[in-house]
Amino acid sequence: MKHRYLKNVVTLQLDEDKCTGCGICIDVCPHGVLEMNMKKVRIIDRDACMECGACAKNCSFSAISVNSGVGCAYALIRGALTNSEPSCGCSSDGSGGSCC
Ligand code: SF4
Ligand code: SF4
Repeated sequence: MKHRYLKNVVTLQLDEDKCTGCGICIDVCPHGVLEMNMKKVRIIDRDACMECGACAKNCSFSAISVNSGVGCAYALIRGALTNSEPSCGCSSDGSGGSCC
């Protein structure tokens, strides 16, 4: 099940003019927030964004910005509450990278 966060507080910003349509941000987004439309990315589910920052980190054209960290804090709290390994899904692209 996709996690939902507080509505309309996500800091995710997209500058379509800078987007080249390379699609990397879509590949690394763990929550299906982004979609390709007419060779440009668009935000289709803003409230599902966990602000992991994977899209912004992987965009070579600075087309996406987000204040990352909130999603990781959520993951840490959730991990503590459920006595499980904290995971926000930010490394699900297989790169081994992680923001928390
Ligand atoms: S990574 Fe950047 S340039 Fe590539 S599709 Fe996403 S926003 Fe556009
Ligand atoms: S910050 Fe993370 S969850 Fe939000 S759009 Fe970017 S990759 Fe997806």
